[in-house]
Amino acid sequence: MFLILNWSAIPGLSRHHWGTDLDVYDNNSNQGNALNLTLQNYQKGYQKYFSKWLRENIEQFGFYYPYYQDLTDGVQMEPWHISHIKTAHNYELSLSLNEVRNFLESDNIHILGKGEILKNIKFIYENYIERYFSKRK
Ligand SMILES: [Zn+2]
Repeated sequence: MFLILNWSAIPGLSRHHWGTDLDVYDNNSNQGNALNLTLQNYQKGYQKYFSKWLRENIEQFGFYYPYYQDLTDGVQMEPWHISHIKTAHNYELSLSLNEVRNFLESDNIHILGKGEILKNIKFIYENYIERYFSKRK
Protein backbone atom coordinates (compact mmCIF):
# COMPACT_ATOMS: atom_id res chain seq x y z
CA MET A 1 0.00 0.00 0.00
CA PHE A 2 2.86 2.38 0.78
CA LEU A 3 5.11 1.22 -2.06
CA ILE A 4 5.08 4.56 -3.88
CA LEU A 5 6.53 6.18 -0.74
CA ASN A 6 9.63 4.00 -1.11
CA TRP A 7 10.50 6.09 -4.16
CA SER A 8 8.59 9.33 -4.00
CA ALA A 9 7.64 11.76 -1.23
CA ILE A 10 4.11 13.00 -0.73
CA PRO A 11 3.80 16.28 -2.64
CA GLY A 12 4.87 19.13 -0.39
CA LEU A 13 6.76 16.87 2.00
CA SER A 14 9.97 16.19 0.08
CA ARG A 15 13.17 17.11 1.87
CA HIS A 16 14.28 18.66 -1.44
CA HIS A 17 11.66 21.36 -0.90
CA TRP A 18 13.40 22.47 2.29
CA GLY A 19 16.36 23.61 0.19
CA THR A 20 18.66 21.54 2.41
CA ASP A 21 18.83 18.32 0.41
CA LEU A 22 20.43 17.64 -2.95
CA ASP A 23 20.89 14.77 -5.38
CA VAL A 24 24.55 14.76 -6.45
CA TYR A 25 26.56 13.05 -9.17
CA ASP A 26 29.87 13.36 -10.99
CA ASN A 27 29.09 14.75 -14.42
CA ASN A 28 32.61 13.96 -15.70
CA SER A 29 32.09 10.25 -15.09
CA ASN A 30 28.89 10.09 -17.08
CA GLN A 31 30.77 9.38 -20.32
CA GLY A 32 27.91 10.63 -22.43
CA ASN A 33 25.41 8.38 -20.72
CA ALA A 34 22.08 9.74 -19.62
CA LEU A 35 22.08 10.41 -15.90
CA ASN A 36 20.47 7.58 -13.99
CA LEU A 37 20.25 7.83 -10.24
CA THR A 38 20.36 4.10 -9.55
CA LEU A 39 22.02 1.93 -6.91
CA GLN A 40 23.74 0.01 -9.70
CA ASN A 41 25.47 3.16 -10.99
CA TYR A 42 26.56 4.29 -7.53
CA GLN A 43 27.74 0.90 -6.31
CA LYS A 44 29.25 -0.66 -9.44
CA GLY A 45 28.73 1.68 -12.39
CA TYR A 46 30.17 4.95 -13.58
CA GLN A 47 29.36 6.84 -10.35
CA LYS A 48 31.16 4.37 -8.05
CA TYR A 49 34.40 6.36 -7.62
CA PHE A 50 32.50 9.57 -6.95
CA SER A 51 30.23 7.70 -4.57
CA LYS A 52 33.22 6.28 -2.67
CA TRP A 53 34.80 9.73 -2.41
CA LEU A 54 31.51 11.26 -1.26
CA ARG A 55 31.03 8.60 1.39
CA GLU A 56 34.53 9.20 2.76
CA ASN A 57 34.18 13.00 2.79
CA ILE A 58 30.51 13.80 3.34
CA GLU A 59 30.79 14.55 7.05
CA GLN A 60 33.63 17.06 6.76
CA PHE A 61 31.35 19.24 4.63
CA GLY A 62 28.48 19.04 7.11
CA PHE A 63 26.25 16.67 5.14
CA TYR A 64 24.83 13.22 5.77
CA TYR A 65 22.87 10.63 3.85
CA PRO A 66 19.27 10.49 5.09
CA TYR A 67 18.49 7.56 2.80
CA TYR A 68 21.47 5.26 3.10
CA GLN A 69 19.76 2.29 4.71
CA ASP A 70 18.08 -0.54 2.87
CA LEU A 71 14.67 -0.63 4.53
CA THR A 72 11.45 -2.50 3.83
CA ASP A 73 8.95 0.07 5.07
CA GLY A 74 10.87 3.19 4.27
CA VAL A 75 12.53 5.24 1.59
CA GLN A 76 14.76 3.17 -0.66
CA MET A 77 18.53 3.56 -0.43
CA GLU A 78 19.64 6.71 -2.26
CA PRO A 79 23.45 7.15 -2.13
CA TRP A 80 23.09 10.29 -4.28
CA HIS A 81 20.79 12.12 -1.85
CA ILE A 82 22.65 14.27 0.67
CA SER A 83 21.37 16.63 3.35
CA HIS A 84 23.04 19.57 5.05
CA ILE A 85 22.73 18.58 8.71
CA LYS A 86 22.72 22.02 10.32
CA THR A 87 20.09 23.60 8.08
CA ALA A 88 17.94 20.49 7.73
CA HIS A 89 17.82 20.17 11.49
CA ASN A 90 16.02 23.52 11.73
CA TYR A 91 13.26 22.17 9.49
CA GLU A 92 13.14 18.92 11.42
CA LEU A 93 12.61 20.82 14.66
CA SER A 94 9.64 22.67 13.20
CA LEU A 95 8.05 19.57 11.69
CA SER A 96 5.72 17.29 13.61
CA LEU A 97 2.98 14.77 12.96
CA ASN A 98 0.36 17.43 13.71
CA GLU A 99 2.05 19.93 11.40
CA VAL A 100 2.05 17.40 8.55
CA ARG A 101 -1.56 16.39 9.26
CA ASN A 102 -2.71 20.02 9.29
CA PHE A 103 -0.87 20.71 6.04
CA LEU A 104 -2.51 17.76 4.28
CA GLU A 105 -5.96 18.50 5.71
CA SER A 106 -5.87 21.99 4.24
CA ASP A 107 -8.49 22.60 1.56
CA ASN A 108 -5.73 23.96 -0.66
CA ILE A 109 -3.99 20.59 -0.87
CA HIS A 110 -5.33 18.37 -3.63
CA ILE A 111 -3.68 14.94 -3.75
CA LEU A 112 -5.16 11.76 -5.17
CA GLY A 113 -5.66 9.34 -2.27
CA LYS A 114 -5.53 12.11 0.31
CA GLY A 115 -8.11 10.31 2.50
CA GLU A 116 -5.98 7.13 2.61
CA ILE A 117 -2.86 9.17 3.33
CA LEU A 118 -4.56 10.92 6.24
CA LYS A 119 -5.92 7.63 7.62
CA ASN A 120 -2.34 6.33 7.78
CA ILE A 121 -0.53 9.55 8.47
CA LYS A 122 1.04 8.44 11.78
CA PHE A 123 2.64 5.39 10.14
CA ILE A 124 3.70 7.42 7.12
CA TYR A 125 5.16 10.22 9.24
CA GLU A 126 7.13 7.84 11.45
CA ASN A 127 8.39 5.55 8.68
CA TYR A 128 8.88 7.88 5.73
CA ILE A 129 9.66 11.25 7.30
CA GLU A 130 10.76 11.35 10.95
CA ARG A 131 13.05 8.32 10.88
CA TYR A 132 15.38 10.17 8.47
CA PHE A 133 15.90 13.21 10.65
CA SER A 134 19.56 14.06 11.19
CA LYS A 135 19.03 14.18 14.91
CA ARG A 136 16.01 12.80 16.69
CA LYS A 137 13.94 15.36 18.53
ZN1 LIG B 1 16.88 13.20 -3.60
